[in-house]
Amino acid sequence: MRVFLSSDIEGCAGICDWDQVRIGASEFALGRELLAGEVNAAIDGAVEGGAEHVLVNDAHSTMHNLHPGELHHSASYLSGAHKPLYMMEGLDGSYDAVFMVAYHGSIGADRAILSHTYNPRAIWEVRLNGEPVGESALNALVALHHAVPVVLITGDETTAAEARPFMPDVEAVVVKRSITRFAAESVHPDRARELIRAGARAAVRRAAAVPAPAIELPATLQITFLTADMAEMATWIRGVERAGARTVTVTGAEPLALYRTFTTIVALTRSIPSG
Ligand SMILES: [Zn+2]
Repeated sequence: MRVFLSSDIEGCAGICDWDQVRIGASEFALGRELLAGEVNAAIDGAVEGGAEHVLVNDAHSTMHNLHPGELHHSASYLSGAHKPLYMMEGLDGSYDAVFMVAYHGSIGADRAILSHTYNPRAIWEVRLNGEPVGESALNALVALHHAVPVVLITGDETTAAEARPFMPDVEAVVVKRSITRFAAESVHPDRARELIRAGARAAVRRAAAVPAPAIELPATLQITFLTADMAEMATWIRGVERAGARTVTVTGAEPLALYRTFTTIVALTRSIPSG
């Protein structure tokens, strides 16, 4: 049993502000500690459930948010920037299960703490086959390519709700309730860890029965940006078509290619100022 764990941070219990999630920011030490606790709880649960190998792919911002020495000793740690497959780098067909830990809601969600979809300075909305999606469903394209089920997701209620249409059998561990984009009611960090550990254990035990993500192919991504210039720039990539002043679409039968087109758009549009 091999588990691939993609860790974000905004979905951790207790986190409610950008200052807690950006390296160098005033409260980052707290954010890092909360994240490490939840990632390690997920690994503990995975090992109890029968996992022999866990790869942690640090998927937030500059992607070196964890102190390597504080990470569970049975996991390996994939960290650092410019990874070809970004939040899903390291996943391949040798894995049996995907965990998404400390994930968060999409930029357009009604109540979602620190909501964004990859880049809040560029992306206004993403739809997958017509449904507004967050990072979970986008990242699930990579899991689908490798036919690996997403068995665990942790975060707020919105994170769980956004994952379910595409991962109906996912074990969703809710550790906080978002009130606004900058306010949430969280369980105590110790309680969050207990819940995640139990969820991870149960998820690994039934992983063999969980299907790969339910994303109909060929699939269409529709991306709306903050400005028209960003949409124009996205069409420089082959296969991306303008669907409106600020909107583009791309359709494909190959989920990995779609994901790579999306992450290329994210990288490209970073070069355009948002204001
Ligand atoms: Zn994120």
